Amino acid sequence: MTELQIITGPMFSGKSEELLRRLSRYPFRPVPPEVFLFKPITDSRGEEELVSSHSGSSMSCVPVKNVFDISQYLQSLDGTVYDPIIGIDEGQFLNGIKELYLDLCNFYDDATLIIAGLNRDYQGRPFPAMERLFSYADKIDILEAICRNCGHMATETYRVSKGTDLIEIDTGDNYEARCKECHAK
Ligand code: ADP
Ligand code: ZN
Repeated sequence: MTELQIITGPMFSGKSEELLRRLSRYPFRPVPPEVFLFKPITDSRGEEELVSSHSGSSMSCVPVKNVFDISQYLQSLDGTVYDPIIGIDEGQFLNGIKELYLDLCNFYDDATLIIAGLNRDYQGRPFPAMERLFSYADKIDILEAICRNCGHMATETYRVSKGTDLIEIDTGDNYEARCKECHAK
């Protein structure tokens, strides 16, 4: 069965770092699987064709507009790839990711899908794309960041700037990790 791993938590909790860490280990298998990494184009942190973590690590990726781009990319491999490892960063922006997972289950015997994505938006509301995935997951890791206000464990993402657009581009200083208490204040 195709395995689904989810890495979630607020911004700065190390989701990208953990995704890259996991993907970087597969080449050490005796028979290394093919590894693919996708990210939605809305993430303009760093370069387009790179997934970069705030900690500095990065890996090249295929930027996509939506889940159909991912399906098409995998279909274009035309069955030449056997049970790949598929990483997706910023999964909260990819509606239909649950359907993509179910398609992969039909298409591959033993692939691995690892999705990193935000738990909640800056107003504390779950991201539907992620929410729908949780019940299918084989492994879920909920990471925490450090609250920038009080130093406790942060589970929330706070927006420092005033806009209300859900997908505001992360320029590095318009969001902060916050604990629940400091986020509510
Ligand atoms: P995410 O993908 O969850 O946004 P990243 O993997 O991009 O997280 O970044 C994680 C790194 O960010 C940490 O290893 C640390 O170096 C740095 N960092 C910056 N701000 C914080 C914070 N408030 N709490 C924890 N780590 C932080
Ligand atoms: Zn706090």
